[in-house]
Amino acid sequence: MNTISCQVIAISALTPVVSKVLLQPAQPTSYTPGQYLQLCLTENDKRPFSIASIPAQDLLELHIGAPAGDNWSSAALQHLQQAFAQGLSVQVEVGLGHAGWRQDSARPVILLAGGTGFSYVHSIAMALAAASQDKPVFLYWGVRQEDALYYQAELQQWAAANAKYRFIPVVQEPGANWQGRSGLVHEAVLQDFVSLEAYDIYIAGPFAMAGVAREAFAEQGAHREQMFADAFAYI
Ligand SMILES: Cc1cc2nc3c(=O)[nH]c(=O)nc-3n(C[C@H](O)[C@H](O)[C@H](O)COP(=O)(O)OP(=O)(O)OC[C@H]3O[C@@H](n4cnc5c(N)ncnc54)[C@H](O)[C@@H]3O)c2cc1C
Repeated sequence: MNTISCQVIAISALTPVVSKVLLQPAQPTSYTPGQYLQLCLTENDKRPFSIASIPAQDLLELHIGAPAGDNWSSAALQHLQQAFAQGLSVQVEVGLGHAGWRQDSARPVILLAGGTGFSYVHSIAMALAAASQDKPVFLYWGVRQEDALYYQAELQQWAAANAKYRFIPVVQEPGANWQGRSGLVHEAVLQDFVSLEAYDIYIAGPFAMAGVAREAFAEQGAHREQMFADAFAYI
């Protein structure tokens, strides 16, 4: 873990409640795809955000969901917006967490994201592709409404580039025109795999989702030591 200064390069809206933030570190960073950073608001107030980018990229990309009434993430976003407006740098601690990509594993992969947990699986999905890992990868992304699938086009391209990669968006409350899967995202995984024994499973999203997914997947054969989520440390 190293603390570094970053310039806020850009903040843009991915949806009405999710912002993309690009940070330019003042020095080289070291992290594993799937790790998170902590944004230091003060010495004692540090907030975790998954890194959506991969180490080969110069900029650190974050996806911050700040729905109305959510002071935890809104305060972090405001901190970044103020620094951006004033041209000041922010402090981050990079390379945190134990749920990063297991690059040496030969097992097929399931990536499970709920909402902005997508940032975490995006980093791992991009790393798998950059390493030309040619094994089955299933990326499930669950959202409440389909307009929250802010990287859908990019993920379709990612899947189209490798016959072994699959992107499965799952909408909890679909509109009349939605043609894809619906319901809770972890239930879509349970429907699609008779046994989860053979897989490395990476999970990020609301803590409640991570908890129910871990238990349901274990009942369907997943090995607990092959399921990875930083949320497990909080539940
Ligand atoms: C280490 C760490 C890193 C974090 N990184 C980020 C980050 O990068 N960006 C960020 O905004 N926040 C981050 N957080 C905070 C937190 O994880 C997110 O606020 C959370 O993932 C937000 O989910 P959402 O509101 O987008 O999902 P929601 O919109 O609430 O849910 C999305 C989907 O998840 C599933 N789901 C939700 N609830 C349940 C349930 N009770 N049971 C079963 N399935 C359910 C459903 O399929 C649902 O459609 C982080 C927290 C930690 C500890």
